[in-house]
This record gives sequence, structure tokens and C-alpha cells, in this order.
Amino acid sequence: MKVMKFGGTLMGSAAAIQRSAELVLRWAGQEAVVTVVSAMAGVTEALLKLGAQAEAGELEEVTAGWKALRFRHLEAGASLGTQAATLEQIDELLETLRQTLYGIYLLRELSGRSRDLLLSFGERLSAPLMAAALTKAGSRAVALTGGEAGLLTSDHFGHARPLPQTAERLSLQLLPLLAEGSIPVVTGFIGETSSGVITTLGRGGSDYTATLIGAALKADEVWTWKDVDGVMSADPRMVEGAVNLEYLSYGEVMELAHFGAKVLHPLAVTPLQESGIPLRVKSAADPDAAGTLVRAESGPSGPVKAVTSLRQACILTVSGAGMVDAPESLAQIFSLLAQRGISALMISQSSSMANLSLVLRAAEGQPALSLLSERFLRSEWVRDVQLREQVAVVAVVGEGMRGTQGVAAKLFGALAAEGINLLMIAQGSSELNISLAIEAKDEALAVRAAHQAFLSRPDHSSKKAAGSGRLSVSH
Ligand code: ADP
Ligand code: ASP
Ligand code: MG
Repeated sequence: MKVMKFGGTLMGSAAAIQRSAELVLRWAGQEAVVTVVSAMAGVTEALLKLGAQAEAGELEEVTAGWKALRFRHLEAGASLGTQAATLEQIDELLETLRQTLYGIYLLRELSGRSRDLLLSFGERLSAPLMAAALTKAGSRAVALTGGEAGLLTSDHFGHARPLPQTAERLSLQLLPLLAEGSIPVVTGFIGETSSGVITTLGRGGSDYTATLIGAALKADEVWTWKDVDGVMSADPRMVEGAVNLEYLSYGEVMELAHFGAKVLHPLAVTPLQESGIPLRVKSAADPDAAGTLVRAESGPSGPVKAVTSLRQACILTVSGAGMVDAPESLAQIFSLLAQRGISALMISQSSSMANLSLVLRAAEGQPALSLLSERFLRSEWVRDVQLREQVAVVAVVGEGMRGTQGVAAKLFGALAAEGINLLMIAQGSSELNISLAIEAKDEALAVRAAHQAFLSRPDHSSKKAAGSGRLSVSH
């Protein structure tokens, strides 16, 4: 049994949905397949924009945007030969979307809960289209929302997490459908609380839905079909010479996703780790290619397998001699941030303990600055809280780094040779990654330099990474 997930690009138009359905059918003849789908390309973004416009009272723009979404889905439905009853259901769903937007407009309020409801329409509108394409090709297909499929979550809107009973519920709902020969088409990204309120798993969450289902149903493999060859040694949009990776460990994928590689949701592999079910990232353009196999073992490779980067970060530095030998100061700083749901991407503390630097997401920088300044500036511990904006994080990832000397030196050398200033450095004790905070303007240059140093094939590398050079490290 396989779970196959199709992202927005592969659901972008009637023709794309048709091709994705053909991929499902290539395998569905021989084994049971559960399909998970994202919203049509760009729809989640469009819904976010409509939500903001409704909240701001821009009713004309909202109406125009809603009409465009209605046209796009109904037209795709018609081209896929969707049955009249299903088309009617899609139109009813569009009407509920219109009313939801009107509600946001009237209240001028978009809470986390209503945002999740709003975003859910993307996947709820695309799943019936995939089911229609499969039905047209002669299969039995049933469209289900995440909640209908059994995906129960916490009520952390925007980043809901599965409840312990989810695995059992998923099997209970999906196995009978598979047994009768149907192909379930489940909306990715969305779940439901135990009282039936719609939630989302965070952007890119369809990958996570697919692996939750794969683990619950004990699938042989979970396949995420993509518009790229697999997980590559860098984002191919940034590095021309990026190559496809044959194998990655679960840990390596988590590090890559954490530091910005958009190709998979950061939590996607977590449901698979315990059972060891492999995740395969497959190329829709080349379905016979192996893609990338993600499993427990890392597979043979050099020290670094991939380079990734994360834009829109900032560095918050809290300093004060009073923090020396006052461990409660750190406890209070972290607990205050945690109460507001702010998590650090990287942490560094100077050896004197007189300062603590945190890399945060850009949007959380100002709120964290105000929070810590208000609470601590007049305390006995903290003398100063500073925010540095326009920061990017670059990370090199690979299990082969463990116990290998000289990786950091080579990385720092390569960046120094490009005149890139390092603002902060971190290496996890698992030695799976080295991450660096740099000025945002240097992001692409740094990624390319790191890729060139570790991953470019010899015939491509015209320039050797310098062993030394200008390197400035500061907190
Ligand atoms: P999906 O639509 O299936 O959710 P995404 O668009 O979220 O897929 O992810 C695929 C995109 O991720 C690619 O188009 C690519 O630009 C980007 N990407 C970033 N880093 C990598 C990487 N290391 N390997 C492959 N793709 C990457
Ligand atoms: N449609 C959602 C998003 O754009 C979920 C996904 O694509 O995985 O984030
Ligand atoms: Mg994605």
C-alpha cells in the first residue's frame, strides 16, 4: 500500500490534475493507494490575501478575488468531466467560502481559528477535482477532508498537531474504503479538533498529512510527487549545479526543512521514524526515476549532502553581566518567549555568559524585542536587548560531518573568500549540520559558495575554497 501526495503545482490546472491522476492509476492497478492533495497552485496564497482584504474592509477586491477562485475551480471541474452533482457541491463550497469572507469583512476580524477555516477551502475545493479525474478514468474515488479521514488535531490554529488517537481513527476511516477498492482522496494540510473545528498543520502541511496517513496505515512507502527530481543538494532555483540526492536520513531531511528547504514540511518525516517506513520524493516529470529515498540510514556520501537557507530571519541579543552565573535568567527569557509561541531557530551564548543571541523569524523580531525589553530591561540581569534585522541563515547538512574534521574550516573559508561576514555560528552536538547567520543580502552568494566548496562536481568547480581569509565572527 502506498500513500501518494500531490502538491499545488501538480494540482495547478485541469491538465495537471489529469496527469497526477494518471500517476496514481499507474500504481493503483497493482496495489492500494491513498491520495493526498494540496490546494491548486497559488490558492492558499490567494485565500490569505482575501482574508487580509476582508479584514481591512476591502469588499470590492474580495468579491473580485472570490470570483476568480470560483471561475478557476468550476472551469477545472468542467474540463475534468466532473459529474453535475459534484460540480454542485463544489459550487456550494464556494458559496460557503463567500459567506466566510463576508463574515470576516463584517467583523473586521481574522482570528487564527477563522484563518484556518478560510485556508481549508483550498484543499476542500481541490480534492473533489482529483476524485473527479480518477472517476473519469474508471476508478472508484472518494474525496474526504482531513477530519473525515480521521485526522484529529490539537486546537493550535495555524500549527495544529495530531492527537494520539489519530492513527487509529485514520485506519478506521480509510481501510474500509481501500478494502472495497476505492481510492481515498484526502485533503492535505487540514485536520479537525475533537469538537469538529477545522485546523491546519502549518504551511506545506500536506506532506505531513501524507506521512501521518502512511504511518497509521503501515504503508510500504509514502511518495510525495514534486516538480523537482527529488530532494536536491540545494534549491535548484538558487544553485544551477544542484544535484538530486539518492538517499537522505530522516534526521538530514528534518535539518534541511528546519533551515528553509521548502521541499518538505519540517515535521513530515516524524510519523515515519518509529516504524522506519521510507518516504520517497518523486519527480512527476520522470516517474520511473527513483527520486530521493528518505529512511533511517543516511547512505554513502561525503561530509556535506546539501546546503539550504532561510530568509527573513533576525538576531535578538540579550546582554548583561548580571546573567553570569544566573541560570534563572535564561529560564525566564525562554519561558517568556515560549508563552508567546516564539521559537528560536538558532541559539548561541558567549562563554562569559554575559550575552545570549537568538535567531528568530523576522516577523517575531519586533514582538520579541518589546517583550524582553519591557520585562527585563530594568531587571538585575539584563543591560541591553538588541535586534538585528535583515538576516538569513545558511546551513550545511549531512551525517557524514560527524567525526570529520575540517568541515567548518572549509565552509568558513569558502564564505570568507566571498567576503561574507558571519554574524552567528551554531553546530548541533549531533554534528548533523552547521548553521550560520549572515546578512540577508549575502544569502544566495553564501549558498552558492558553500555548494561550490562541498558539492559541485570537480569539472564544475573552477574555484577552490580558500583555507583562510577574511573572517569576522561576532555576536
Ligand atoms: P509541493 O507543491 O509538493 O508542496 P513545494 O513547492 O512545497 O512542493 O516544494 C518543491 C519546491 O521546493 C521546489 O520547486 C524547489 O524550488 C524547492 N526547494 C527548496 N529546496 C529544495 C531542495 N533542496 N531540493 C528540492 N527542491 C527544493
Ligand atoms: N496548501 C497548503 C500551503 O500552501 C499546504 C501545502 O501545500 O502543503 O501551504
Ligand atoms: Mg510544499
